[in-house]
Amino acid sequence: MNSFILNGKHVNPGEQRYIDLRIAKLPTHTVIDMPIFVSRGVNPGPTLLLTAGLHGNETNGIEIVRRIITEKHLHPTSGTIVAVPIVNIYGFLQQERYLPDGKDLNRSFPGNKTGSLASRVANIIVNELLPLVDFGIDFHTGGASKDNYPQIRCVLSQQQNVTLAEAFAPPFILNSTLIDKSFRKAAHRRGKSIIVYEGGESLRLDEDAIQYGIDGTLRLMKSFGMRDDAPVISYKPRTFLKSSWVRAKVSGLFRTTLKPGDKVVRGQHLGSITDPYGETNVNLKATQNGYVVGLNRMPVISAGDALLHIGNRVESK
Ligand SMILES: [Zn+2]
Repeated sequence: MNSFILNGKHVNPGEQRYIDLRIAKLPTHTVIDMPIFVSRGVNPGPTLLLTAGLHGNETNGIEIVRRIITEKHLHPTSGTIVAVPIVNIYGFLQQERYLPDGKDLNRSFPGNKTGSLASRVANIIVNELLPLVDFGIDFHTGGASKDNYPQIRCVLSQQQNVTLAEAFAPPFILNSTLIDKSFRKAAHRRGKSIIVYEGGESLRLDEDAIQYGIDGTLRLMKSFGMRDDAPVISYKPRTFLKSSWVRAKVSGLFRTTLKPGDKVVRGQHLGSITDPYGETNVNLKATQNGYVVGLNRMPVISAGDALLHIGNRVESK
């Protein structure tokens, strides 16, 4: 693609441009724009979309895209990068996952021009950005006090997903089916693969999660000929075909010494739930071998709450 036009603005090969996309107005008439950074290499190549902050409180992703921009990684030798550090501007301002209409943007795709706010933002992404790109990485963190070990989530039965995930080479790759009304599913229906990167917790900057996200993006760019160099991995990425949550059988205080990324073996003690008065103590045991891909950091939990997300290892590269 030699011409690149977003919001009526042309970006030529070898150029970088910052483009504001009008989203809506606040009740105060304050205009809300979505800042988008477009950077084109001099040589032709694929167009990569980087999005973060679909959930406004997932700060690690926003920081990953910010650093990619400020550390000048955004300039490809070939192809084009379209970077959106904050998709849900409203949620970011409120330090909230949702939009002011109470909707989850990642459950509002493909959206509607005349729908409520989340639906309108989704509609803009689908109609203005998706047609311009070939594939993308959408950066997230754990929601609701969940701490995710750096991982790519994608559909492992789709070859382009596998190619993108393996190029990114995060510590963990997790098979994750397409959820209805999600950005990933809307993109997939339009023939575009979006893989999701998850790392760390909402509203916490996690240096490891940020660095894994940047390094993986650079590796993916290199594998598509968009840059000449990228950090080399010093670990073996682990791929999980399945994962499941260990849930609380009772309410109380949850304690564990496990950390995201830890290995667990069947029968291993995973943690315990005690009532606040010291009368009961329920031990949790692993029912299968695997790795901790996510962990609930909330100490006070209710029966049924998700505590530990365990991935089952299927292959090691
Ligand atoms: Zn998220």
